[in-house]
Amino acid sequence: MIEGLAKHKDELGAPLCPCRHYEDKKAEAEAAYWNCPCVPMRERKECHCMLFLTPDNDFAGDKQEISIEQIRAVTNQY
Ligand code: SF4
Repeated sequence: MIEGLAKHKDELGAPLCPCRHYEDKKAEAEAAYWNCPCVPMRERKECHCMLFLTPDNDFAGDKQEISIEQIRAVTNQY
């Protein structure tokens, strides 16, 4: 998710949501509706990607920090 957002930021100049299909990514990035945090997230706290979760969501964690070792363990697999 984060990598997809970062790639779109690099390629399109905006963090277009990576979980959706677009006919024209450049036009969508310029329209800004699905630029993260997207309009549904900003207006209704709805993130279909589950990058953002409300505290009452069953998948919401109770920590806000992650160690570099944890990140490396997940990202150095390929
Ligand atoms: S808030 Fe969630 S659904 Fe909206 S653009 Fe970001 S990752 Fe995608």
